[in-house]
Amino acid sequence: MGYVVASLLQALLPARCLLCRDSLPVASRGGVCSPCWQALPRLPEPACERCGEPSEVSPCLSCQTSPPPWRRFAAVFAYEKGARELVLLLKNGRDELASPCAVELWQKARSFSWPEKPTVTFVPMRPWRRLRRGYNQAELLASELARLASWPKQKLLRRVAAGTQKGQSRKSRHQQVAHAFKPTGPAPERVVLVDDVVTTGATAAACTRALRRAGAKEVWVLALAKTLKR
Ligand SMILES: [Zn+2]
Ligand SMILES: [Zn+2]
Repeated sequence: MGYVVASLLQALLPARCLLCRDSLPVASRGGVCSPCWQALPRLPEPACERCGEPSEVSPCLSCQTSPPPWRRFAAVFAYEKGARELVLLLKNGRDELASPCAVELWQKARSFSWPEKPTVTFVPMRPWRRLRRGYNQAELLASELARLASWPKQKLLRRVAAGTQKGQSRKSRHQQVAHAFKPTGPAPERVVLVDDVVTTGATAAACTRALRRAGAKEVWVLALAKTLKR
């Protein structure tokens, strides 16, 4: 009963922007008003094409010294302020945000030259977590991106180890996550790996290595948001 009343109220009350709580015009992007969407912090350009950090030279000095396992990296937003809120909303029940977020991913991805169609895949979630949440936000982003780009999408990785990332040192996080992904089978030559947010890069690196072990020659990482190192 409570649920019915709540949904009725929700249907009758004017919709509000998920970020600023202002009332929302009909044409909103997944529940976020246009000014809020415009104000989301984008990653500064020019950026290093290997790590996404702001840099005049590409690859940046850090990537020249220790290059990441992926061929190329791009993210749309800096993981802060409104973009952080957006990622958390997408993660926690607001799956309708996947569609407008994927439009941003596609705009980023289409600016690169792709010699042939890559296969889109995503960072998998632990099965119990996926079950509890009902969806994997990275998978939703990957599906929407694949649809927009007319690229094939395939689940290429599965998660094998347990453990949480919160509150651990950078080093132990890297060690723990390094063996957490296994390929589901042989991987295509060109793969675009999608994730919602890249923080230390440990997860994306572990996934990339697993994909390369499975036969992928080139892995490009595409994320909605990235933590800036500065
Ligand atoms: Zn707003
Ligand atoms: Zn770099």
